[in-house]
Amino acid sequence: MERRILHFYQQILTKYLFKRKIKAFITPINFMSSVFLCMFFIFPEVGYCDSDYKTKITIAFRYDDYSAVSDTKLEKQIIEIFSDFNIPITFGVIPNVVSSMYSDTISNEFIILKRRKINILKKASREGIVEIALHGYTHRQNLKVNIYTEFSGLDYNEQYRKIKQGKNFLENEIGSKVTTFIPPWNSYDSITLQVLNELNFQFISSDIIGQSYNNSGLMYVPFTCEVNNLKDAIMLARENLDNSALIVVMFHQDNFIEANKNKGYISITEFAEIISWISQQKDINIISIAESNNHISDLSSSRYANNLSRFQLAYRLPPFFRYKSNIIYSSQARIYKQKTVMYIYLILIPLLIALITHLVSFRMRSFIAHKKAKLIPYFLLIILIFFGAAYYFTVDFIGYMAILIMQLLVGIIFGIMVSVRRLKKRIALLH
Ligand SMILES: [Zn+2]
Repeated sequence: MERRILHFYQQILTKYLFKRKIKAFITPINFMSSVFLCMFFIFPEVGYCDSDYKTKITIAFRYDDYSAVSDTKLEKQIIEIFSDFNIPITFGVIPNVVSSMYSDTISNEFIILKRRKINILKKASREGIVEIALHGYTHRQNLKVNIYTEFSGLDYNEQYRKIKQGKNFLENEIGSKVTTFIPPWNSYDSITLQVLNELNFQFISSDIIGQSYNNSGLMYVPFTCEVNNLKDAIMLARENLDNSALIVVMFHQDNFIEANKNKGYISITEFAEIISWISQQKDINIISIAESNNHISDLSSSRYANNLSRFQLAYRLPPFFRYKSNIIYSSQARIYKQKTVMYIYLILIPLLIALITHLVSFRMRSFIAHKKAKLIPYFLLIILIFFGAAYYFTVDFIGYMAILIMQLLVGIIFGIMVSVRRLKKRIALLH
């Protein structure tokens, strides 16, 4: 696709440059069509080659909230499915779950993981099917901050005590090391990272928008999608030709119709069909989170921070840039490319508006020649500065509509200024 467009574009160039005069090529109309062609190239989904599946895609499945109160029947079925296809899965286990709702901050009743559930885990872990990860200690929301979190906002000692207790419990019961931490609600703070580092955790799996710091040995393996958009993520990974792409699928018992008739969107049979389909794909590697560093070379905090900054940049641009950009944990090289495309867009839009404004305003020469009309760009510049400052100081995050308005203003200012200048030259020539 990309090559075909490029070839077509080269043909146009040769035709204009060699068969006609070069001057003819630099008319505003041709310039504008060039800008449009460039725009066409920068649309993220155009320009990527059709994949012949040379890319290796790595997928990890993460099932959260295995606890004394979770649905054992369903969990046994999940283990059976992964066992049938001989592929691993990571279970986020809550050692001492709060007996009421997770969001119940007052409840002080907890239920420790029972022998029966421990044995299920132990067996699946020995067979190499289930990786056991620590998913908080009680999963109860804390009172310190006003968000869903078990750890964020707690002091060092309290976080250390909870995480150590949870890790010790699982390691003693299961008889193997626990190296992955999955924070409840994917929420944690810098203290959590410090504690994880000290307790020799190797992996943290949260979402894509968390904190990171680079002076620890922790590896970041955030979840990127859920079962309902897993196929989209696979398609995108194939299009992206990113050999270091990682997809982490997070799911809960409530996603299954059998466990929750209202919230569930998939039956266990449909889930088995998806796993069966994935296991047949030659370009897909299925791993547990603890195996991720054997397959993906870079799981550093800088990759994590880069994925977050691409995600934020995508939200500063129109929605089509946002298209699934966060359903894959991309390599840094891929992110640099995508961010370059986004920055080009940020520059091209004002250029295009400048060109249109110039073409229109130059046709209205008599109006532009007017002294007061020359003040329009300065007037618009003041509006731009006030608008930008107002947004900068009042909003945490400047969204794409505000950026679009600023791009529009910059384009109009430049377009009119070019017309005024061109008109001045023309008048000077006449005299
Ligand atoms: Zn959870």
